[in-house]
Amino acid sequence: MALLNIVTNPDPVLRGKAKKVTQFDDNLQKLIDDMIETMRDAPGVGLAAPQVNLSQRLFVAEFGDENDEDTLPEVYVFINPKIIYTSSEMDTGVEGCLSIPGKLGEVMRPIDATLEGLDRHGESQRIEAKGWLARIFQHETDHLNGVLFTDHALSVWDQELPEIE
Ligand code: ZN
Repeated sequence: MALLNIVTNPDPVLRGKAKKVTQFDDNLQKLIDDMIETMRDAPGVGLAAPQVNLSQRLFVAEFGDENDEDTLPEVYVFINPKIIYTSSEMDTGVEGCLSIPGKLGEVMRPIDATLEGLDRHGESQRIEAKGWLARIFQHETDHLNGVLFTDHALSVWDQELPEIE
């Protein structure tokens, strides 16, 4: 496996509408493994293909419940995802992005989102996500459409560096 280079704003690849994935070959499997490794190394909770300079409809995410030790982090791979349902109930949350280093912002999104698409082997999958997972899925799907969280954040600010004591 190999770490991939994460492109940052304002690279134009982040603004394109990514193309559907059609080949489920060994190259795709390697790309997915490399994206997972790159996401963990960053570290981040999600990474979309345009963020590694590939305009393809694919993202990876890893999420566990911080408040529940019994819930181990799970890796998600979504190919050609479509958001088929979002709740009318919305919530605000603080988001960052590996492609916009040093910035955080408050973003309002639906609290639930159901995604349909394919897994890494091209099999159909549907996931009903709630809370932070739903937020991650929506943030990553935005990347496939050339949208960054700063486009619809209520406010954006500079991430403060940790205090050194
Ligand atoms: Zn992002």
